[in-house]
Amino acid sequence: MTELAASTTSVTPSLDLTELRRAVTGPVWDPGDVEVVAEIAGFNLAPVHEPVGVVGATDAADVAAAVRFARAHDLGVAVIATGHADFSHRGTLIVSTRRLDRCDVDPTTRTVTVGAGAKWARVIEAAAPYGLTGVTGSSTDVGVVGFCTGGGVGPMIRRFGLGSDQVRSMQVVTGEGDVREVGRGDDLFDAMLGGKDAAGIVVEMTVDLVEVARFYGGAIFYDAADAPAVLHAWRDWQARLDENTTTSIAIVRMPDLEAAPPPLRGRTVVHLRVWHLGPATEGREILSPMRRVATPMIDLVDELPSAAIDAVHCDPTDPMPSWITGGYLRGITRETVDTLLAVAGPQHELPVIVVELRQTGGQALRGTQGVAARAPYAIGVVAPMVPGLEQVVPAVGLGLVDALAPWSAGTVPANYASPQTIAARPGACWDDDGRARLAAVVARTDPDAVLGGRRLGLR
Ligand SMILES: Cc1cc2nc3c(=O)[nH]c(=O)nc-3n(C[C@H](O)[C@H](O)[C@H](O)COP(=O)(O)OP(=O)(O)OC[C@H]3O[C@@H](n4cnc5c(N)ncnc54)[C@H](O)[C@@H]3O)c2cc1C
Repeated sequence: MTELAASTTSVTPSLDLTELRRAVTGPVWDPGDVEVVAEIAGFNLAPVHEPVGVVGATDAADVAAAVRFARAHDLGVAVIATGHADFSHRGTLIVSTRRLDRCDVDPTTRTVTVGAGAKWARVIEAAAPYGLTGVTGSSTDVGVVGFCTGGGVGPMIRRFGLGSDQVRSMQVVTGEGDVREVGRGDDLFDAMLGGKDAAGIVVEMTVDLVEVARFYGGAIFYDAADAPAVLHAWRDWQARLDENTTTSIAIVRMPDLEAAPPPLRGRTVVHLRVWHLGPATEGREILSPMRRVATPMIDLVDELPSAAIDAVHCDPTDPMPSWITGGYLRGITRETVDTLLAVAGPQHELPVIVVELRQTGGQALRGTQGVAARAPYAIGVVAPMVPGLEQVVPAVGLGLVDALAPWSAGTVPANYASPQTIAARPGACWDDDGRARLAAVVARTDPDAVLGGRRLGLR
C-alpha cells in the first residue's frame, strides 16, 4: 500500500504560486512539497496526479481565488474530496476540500448542511439520534457532494430516488470564480446535480434527510456454483417487489486479502444485497424465496439500524487501486442474465472484482431535479487497477458492459464513468435533454473551460 500511495503524485515544473498564496487563507503547496501526497491521497490509489499546485480550501473565498488564479494562468482546476474517483489530474491546479468538513443536522427541517469534504458516514452518524438518515450510496466512505453531483444511485433508491433528488440548496463557485447560492429552480443548481464539477465547484450543500431509523436488509453470499440459479431467481423476484425494497446482485471475485471475511476470501461468490423498509417479519417473508433458491454460504440479512447501511453492499473501506464502469439498462430479461453469466460467470478468470446488476428505478424515475440520467436498472463493474493491468482492466470492463448492449438505456450513471468509460461513450452521462441543459449552463458559468467539463466529455 505504501508503495502505491507514494506513486500517486509526481512533480510537474513549478509555477509561481505567490499571488495565489496571498489570496488564499488555507495552505497552498507546490507540487514537490512533502505535504502534497497526504493531502490528495484518498480511497483510490490508482490515479497518478501531477498538479501544478494544491490549494487546501477553507471557505468559498479560497475556492474562488483558486479558480480565478487558474483562469488567469490558463490552467484547469480539479477538485478532490475523499479521492474515490479514478481520474488522474495532470497539469491542473487541485482544490482539496477536506477542510470543508461542516456537518450540521437540523432536525426541524430534516436537513443536513455539509461542507464539500464531508463523507456520508459523518452525516449518518449525526442524523441517527433524531431517527433520520441520509440517502447514501453503497459506501458511506464516499463524499456527499461527489455522490450527489454524480446523481447518486444507492441501496434506498427505489423508495427515495437519487442522491441528487435530495439536495435543497448549494453554495457554488463558478468557472469565473463567482460565489453563487443556488436552490431548486435555478439552472446552475440543476446543472450541478448530475454535472459533477462541469459547471461549478460546490463549497456547501444542504440535503434532505429521511425518517428511517431501522431497515431489514444486509447481504447474503452464495457459492459460485449456485450463480445461474440465484441470478435467474433474483430476476424473477426483484420484478415483483414494491418500492419499499431495493435489491441488487453481484458476482464477486473476492480478493485474497485480510479485509475479506475468511469463508469468502479468494473465492468467487454471488452477493445478494437487500434493503427493505418495513417490519422484519414482512422483510423475512419477502426474502424467503431467495433464501430457498440455494443454501447461502453466509446470511447476514437482519433488522438493522440505519447507521448500518454499509452492511448491504459490504464495500471495502481500506484504500485500494480501483476502477469503475457501468451503464444504465432499460430492462433485465432471462436473456440478459444468460448473457451476463456467459461473459462474467464464475467459469471465467477475469481481472474484475464486482460485476453487478442493480435496481435503480422506482422513485428515481419520477424525479425531475438535476440533469442526471435515470433508468430502472444498471450494470456496474469494479476492478482492481493494479500496475500491469492498466490496459486490460478497461478493455475487459467495457467489454462486459457492452455485452449487455441489447438492454442498454444508452446512458451511464455519472458516478460510474471512469476516464475510459467517457472516452468510449462521450456524453453518455446524460440523456440528450440533460446534456443540452448542462452544456448551456456550462457555456455561461465556465466560458474558459477551467472546470471539469472537458474531462467529463461535455466539451
Ligand atoms: C467503494 C465505492 C463505492 C461507491 N458506491 C457508489 C454507489 O453506490 N453509487 C454511486 O452513485 N456511486 C458510487 N461510487 C462512486 C462515487 O460516488 C464517485 O466516485 C464520487 O464521485 C465520489 O466522490 P468523492 O468526493 O468521494 O470522491 P473524489 O474522488 O474526491 O471526487 C470525485 C469527483 O466528484 C466530483 N466532486 C467532488 N467534490 C466536488 C465539489 N466540491 N464540487 C463539484 N464536484 C465535486 C468531481 O467531479 C470529482 O472529480 C462508489 C465509489 C467507490 C470507490
